[in-house]
Amino acid sequence: MPYYDVIVVGAGPGGATAAYELANAGISVLIIDKEKFPRYKPCGGGLSLKIDKILNIDIKETIENTIKGAYFSYKQKEGVFLLSDKPVAYMVMRDRFDSLLLSEAVKSGASFIDESHVKGISNGKNGYEIFVNKNPSPLPSPLRGEGWVKGGFSGDKVYNCKYVIGADGANGIVRRFLYPGIKRTLAASIEAEIPVDEELTDNHSHYVHIDFGVIPYGYAWVFPKKGFLSAGIAGFKGVAKHPKRYFEQFINGHNKINGTTEYKYKGHPIPIFNKPLNLTKGGVMLVGDAGNLVDPFFGEGIYYAIRSSQIASTVVSEAIIKGKTDLSGYDTKLSTEFYPEFMAAQQISQFVYTFPRIWFNVLSDKPELAEQYYNVLRGENRYSIFLKEIKSIAGSLMKTALKKGFLQLFK
Ligand SMILES: Cc1cc2nc3c(=O)[nH]c(=O)nc-3n(C[C@H](O)[C@H](O)[C@H](O)COP(=O)(O)OP(=O)(O)OC[C@H]3O[C@@H](n4cnc5c(N)ncnc54)[C@H](O)[C@@H]3O)c2cc1C
Repeated sequence: MPYYDVIVVGAGPGGATAAYELANAGISVLIIDKEKFPRYKPCGGGLSLKIDKILNIDIKETIENTIKGAYFSYKQKEGVFLLSDKPVAYMVMRDRFDSLLLSEAVKSGASFIDESHVKGISNGKNGYEIFVNKNPSPLPSPLRGEGWVKGGFSGDKVYNCKYVIGADGANGIVRRFLYPGIKRTLAASIEAEIPVDEELTDNHSHYVHIDFGVIPYGYAWVFPKKGFLSAGIAGFKGVAKHPKRYFEQFINGHNKINGTTEYKYKGHPIPIFNKPLNLTKGGVMLVGDAGNLVDPFFGEGIYYAIRSSQIASTVVSEAIIKGKTDLSGYDTKLSTEFYPEFMAAQQISQFVYTFPRIWFNVLSDKPELAEQYYNVLRGENRYSIFLKEIKSIAGSLMKTALKKGFLQLFK
């Protein structure tokens, strides 16, 4: 049976980064994905500038656009441009971006097999056995309460490893085996890549469009790429009941893309951070979407998939090199680097998406607030500081409301 130090399940940004880092540390690593690469992944492809602070790979060739701010609107009726003089984010298409990261992992020595469905994991003699089926077939329903699958499945190929990194995204199997029945907060989202004239993307070129209010407890977006506009909606509180209806409403109300029919849209859940979890059990770790590591305010997950994978692979490499089995350093690092920020973002999210009208008025009246947020995206400010600013504004709003009446807040 083939044996690896580490098997990474899933070759999105999280899995590819983990494999890249491990291969560069001289660890034998296999990465497995069920899709044929390059593959489409429903995603806005907004990559905040703070990626520059952590990524060693040159991603220039995949950058479709560099964004300097946003046009914020409320229910597509009124809007305000809040542009910075410095870049805030990059726009990428996920098929090209993910393939670049993956090819760097393979160049560094990682083995990769695609079109291979991981269907089960069990404890093996020297770690774990991973059951892989080349024929895409439905996954077995998770054995709730039973933990690991006790045996293989007929027709599966079995790979052995000492450690497993679950980078298999929102619907992944590794989480289901590690934490059967865990409660998650899934944002409902729909995304389409809409082909448009270059001229239209030029007009959009250096800003994104974000609408508050068009979908309850969430936002809608249009992100400009080369020859495409990526448009989508995400509802953050539970699963919005009618995402398709809201998506169509948004597209039809958008002056740049209404009437466009040449696109397909796809829904996908976004597992936004809910509460800190231990993402390590035995020799298995969860990274990125598999571990619900998505910013609960903006729904940003690419950066966090990459960063969590870097941390996970450092911890696994050290364990392998020093002959230790304890991987708890991963959870410790997440609890200082990720969770305080996610908890602050959660509070901002509660305020903004409960009161989108007030938030839109606040942004319009205080454009400097947008710059503070852009600095969070640049990695030059923290959500916790941004939250304090919002709380002080909310405090003064409450005073105004008490003086002038609450309707003043919704004007
Ligand atoms: C509509 C939408 C818009 C978004 N927009 C943005 C955005 O603009 N910016 C941003 O930062 N984030 C965005 N996100 C979130 C972002 O897409 C994710 O956070 C990110 O893709 C997480 O990366 P990952 O590597 O953890 O998982 P993924 O990218 O989901 O990769 C998981 C991989 O695992 C594979 N896999 C799954 N199960 C198995 C299995 N059983 N066997 C083998 N392989 C398996 C899948 O094929 C997939 O390739 C958006 C999400 C959605 C749904």
